[in-house]
Amino acid sequence: MIKEECGLVGLFKNENSAEILYVGLFSLQHRGQESSGIIVSDGTSINAHMGSGLVSDVFTRDIIKSLNGNFGIGHVRYSTTGGSNKRNIQPFLVEYSGKPLAIAHNGNLTNSKTLRIELEKQGSIFQTSMDSEIIIHLLVRSNGSDVKEKLINTLRQLKGAFSLLIFTENSIIAARDANGFRPLCIGLLDNGYVIASETCAFDLIGAQYLRDVEPGEIVVFSDNGVESYTWAENVHRSHCIFEFIYFARPDSTIFTKSVYSTRHRLGENLAEESEFDGDIVVPIPDSGSIAALGFSQRKKIPFEFGIIRNHYIGRTFIQPLQKMRDAGVKIKLNPVKSVVSGKRVIAIEDSIVRGTTCRNRVKSLKDAGAETVMLCVSCPPIISPCYYGIDFPSKQELIASTKNVEQIKEFLGLDGLCYLSVNGMLDAMPLPGEYFCTACFTGQYPVNPDFNFNKYQFEE
Ligand code: SF4
Repeated sequence: MIKEECGLVGLFKNENSAEILYVGLFSLQHRGQESSGIIVSDGTSINAHMGSGLVSDVFTRDIIKSLNGNFGIGHVRYSTTGGSNKRNIQPFLVEYSGKPLAIAHNGNLTNSKTLRIELEKQGSIFQTSMDSEIIIHLLVRSNGSDVKEKLINTLRQLKGAFSLLIFTENSIIAARDANGFRPLCIGLLDNGYVIASETCAFDLIGAQYLRDVEPGEIVVFSDNGVESYTWAENVHRSHCIFEFIYFARPDSTIFTKSVYSTRHRLGENLAEESEFDGDIVVPIPDSGSIAALGFSQRKKIPFEFGIIRNHYIGRTFIQPLQKMRDAGVKIKLNPVKSVVSGKRVIAIEDSIVRGTTCRNRVKSLKDAGAETVMLCVSCPPIISPCYYGIDFPSKQELIASTKNVEQIKEFLGLDGLCYLSVNGMLDAMPLPGEYFCTACFTGQYPVNPDFNFNKYQFEE
């Protein structure tokens, strides 16, 4: 299954900063479950805590109470670049010229190897294998009279995907790459500001969505107010379309649009393209649910929860080892025999990556007595890896890169298989098609990775 990326929350200013960041991170837990961290400051002292595991495991009430401060940043992580080493937990905090500097990053740089080699030649010593540390090294070496100028010079050396939060002694700075691959939103909270990967982080803390950090923009939050700068000479939107299909929470607004409505339209378009008939439409929980609803309503076939998810284990794809993933899927989803038995089931899945977990699900539906199982997928076949922060497996492991639809149907043990077309997917989007990255479906990359990118990414 697909591994997630990371979630960011920042805050300027609020007396309850640690509590608010904690709740914000909790809302973004779906974006990363391996580790989390919070750094806050009251302008004189820095307080930080981070660790491996879920937000609720890393932070106790006493720890949150001990984190005094009125501004700060937080991060939840799934390891993309850098592996799951504890040293790679973010935010990444350093001291530079006697002052604190920390960074939280979502996305992958596509020129990280080149930059790292160059920096090491110049004498940099790295503590971690994260892209985020590269950015810190570049930042402290860059020309500029203040952090903002240095950051602009740094960002101009980066390629690929980065939504960033930077913590300084007296400010929080948000920045986004020139393609806007990953989301980053700004909200109002009391007299201050919150910045988060998705707006679902605002809802729990009572913040009001204001706007996105624009692609190619830096926004500085300090006692001087809010200042916006454009760092990129050329902006070409390439929002990750997979955020709408799968990653983002359906109650979020990302890229200024509702995830729920978009996912519903994906299901409607899938219904238009599918010729299958069945007795019931069954979502593969949870991310297939809204597309399944759209599909069911458009097809006028009853929607049934024919598979129940055990909510008390993590999302299987978050586990770093294949054997953990395989064990996870068996205990996570269970078909409801009384619902599926004797029925022609149309199952709705959000995506198929390797196909192994999907095959298990099809088998369990058949074991539960389904007469036939047809699968409709609310995105096109995934044929290429992602270089922008989503940890798809290598091209060879992507089932659709080596098998056609008929062969995949056979492999999965299905009676029918239908994918949404690229046009159907783009038509469901709430923004023009040219605003999106679709590289994992089309192989057309908006930013080419540097040499050896894949080797570097997956060798750890
Ligand atoms: S390649 Fe796919 S997953 Fe990666 S950014 Fe593009 S659309 Fe998103």
